[in-house]
Amino acid sequence: MGKTPRETNVTPSFTAEKLRAAGLRPTRQRMELAGHLFAGLDRHVTAESLHDEVVNSGIKVSLATVYNTLHQFTAAGLLRQVVVDAARGYFDTNTGDHQHFFLEDEGMLIDIPGDAIQVAGVPSAPPGMLVDRVDVVVRVRRT
Ligand SMILES: [Zn+2]
Repeated sequence: MGKTPRETNVTPSFTAEKLRAAGLRPTRQRMELAGHLFAGLDRHVTAESLHDEVVNSGIKVSLATVYNTLHQFTAAGLLRQVVVDAARGYFDTNTGDHQHFFLEDEGMLIDIPGDAIQVAGVPSAPPGMLVDRVDVVVRVRRT
């Protein structure tokens, strides 16, 4: 089995425990995808980019399975979905408080630490509702 340096950072039992703690059964495919997602530094992926990466590492999995698994991980709180445009859904392994720069031409997200940005003037929520979260995407381009 081809091991990349990233995968050596985390043991299968750690990955299985992470899935179980989130209420997900550690199936083979979930384990393989979680091994790629949670093995190292926090990262932003799309279903397509993760699919390419996993297939290139020699694992056979369909794009639909990758897509479904990313949504299951998101629903279980392991990932956060970042919506920057209608055509591309990004998934973030960092579920903590932070915002994003979006380099549109390259489709790249860059984290903005939560304490590095203040959002002023958020209106009160409509009656019977409360503000759950404010997502900020700062669109940038290279000079
Ligand atoms: Zn992020």
